[in-house]
Order: sequence, then C-alpha cells, then structure tokens
Amino acid sequence: METRIIQGMEVQVIARGEWDIVTQEQREMNKRKHNRATHGINPCHLCEQTISDKSLPTAWYVHMNTDAELLPIGVSITEGSQGYFPIGASCAKRIPKSHKTKLEGMF
Ligand SMILES: [Zn+2]
Repeated sequence: METRIIQGMEVQVIARGEWDIVTQEQREMNKRKHNRATHGINPCHLCEQTISDKSLPTAWYVHMNTDAELLPIGVSITEGSQGYFPIGASCAKRIPKSHKTKLEGMF
C-alpha cells in the first residue's frame, strides 16, 4: 500500500500496480467474454471477469479514485472519486477487508 494525503488525512491506498495483476490481453479476453445482455453491465472492475447474477448481490465493492487507486472503506472524498464498483470473487481474495465492502448498508 502507499500513503497519500487526501483532504488533509493520511490515507493508505492500494495503488494500481498493486491490484492490477491481470495482463492487458487477459483483461481484453475477459471483456469480450462478458455478455452484457445476460450478465448486466458490471463485470469485475479490476479484471473484467463476469460476476454471475447469483454473486452480484453479495459481491464486494471497491472505492476507486481517478488515479485508479483503491481507497480504504470509510474514507469519503469530495473530489477525485470514481465511485464504488463490484469486483469478482478471485479479485476480492487479494483485496484486504479494509479496502472492500459489501453493498448492504452502503446506500
Ligand atoms: Zn476481478
């Protein structure tokens, strides 16, 4: 993790180089395989792999800023947020609990 000063707070972010372990080729392949008609608009935000309809309601979400860094849950920023995105089960295994959240109770 890397330390950033965000709105005067010291925040530990997961930098793109830390979460982005899937090759561009693999990501493109995942993207092509993802069928929006049958699996909605949200593949895994980190690797583009399809999240099944069954798993989506219980999927983990990450909060990404415009530098493609993952912010710790509980830190809300007024500028530079891209919002929350679902991630698949295999990516979720690599993201510590401090940086992922379930949908329940978030909105
Ligand atoms: Zn993924």
